[in-house]
Amino acid sequence: MDMLILHYTGMASGAAALTRLRDPAAKVSAHYLVEEDGRVFAMVEEGRRAWHAGVSHWRGSAGLNGRSIGIEVVNPGHEHGYRPFPVLQMVAVVELCLAVLGRHPIPACNVLAHSDVAPDRKQDPGELFDWQGLAGQGVGLWPSEPAAPAGGEAVAGLLAAIGYRADLPLPVQLSAFQRHWRPERVDGLADEETRGLLRAVADLAQG
Ligand SMILES: [Zn+2]
Repeated sequence: MDMLILHYTGMASGAAALTRLRDPAAKVSAHYLVEEDGRVFAMVEEGRRAWHAGVSHWRGSAGLNGRSIGIEVVNPGHEHGYRPFPVLQMVAVVELCLAVLGRHPIPACNVLAHSDVAPDRKQDPGELFDWQGLAGQGVGLWPSEPAAPAGGEAVAGLLAAIGYRADLPLPVQLSAFQRHWRPERVDGLADEETRGLLRAVADLAQG
């Protein structure tokens, strides 16, 4: 396992999500679920494949279930009343991620959102998820400051260098990038701030 992929459950309640993730007929699963009150449910052993990523790509690899730990964070999601992730929940998420990272050789550049690896289908865990806070605790990449903005012609190459699937339309890739690294405005446009962050994240990812 060399990737860690974070999700939101996207269902009305945590209990409903837990039931679905435990139902073999649903054909979805994850290694862990973190409730809004911070309770952590372990569901699939870390060495075993869970069915959480679906059709997914990163850095030229496809079908990431076999190499990724999946964590479902309870939140109704964009379709059922997306709301902030409570502090207690995020504390538990950080603690769980740190424990997982301590057991597997997962580089920071492979700590990802479901929306990073499936940008054309998924938005989770979404722009309210505190990636910056996670990185501050040692979970994932976050640039300390933007780099000099890349020129428009460099955008596609930087997105590919970070890991996004290059054959998707640029606005789709850019929206996924922004949802993770520029959550204040997710519009799919390569504005100057986004281009600065693209270069900064690409530098970190390749460093
Ligand atoms: Zn997901």
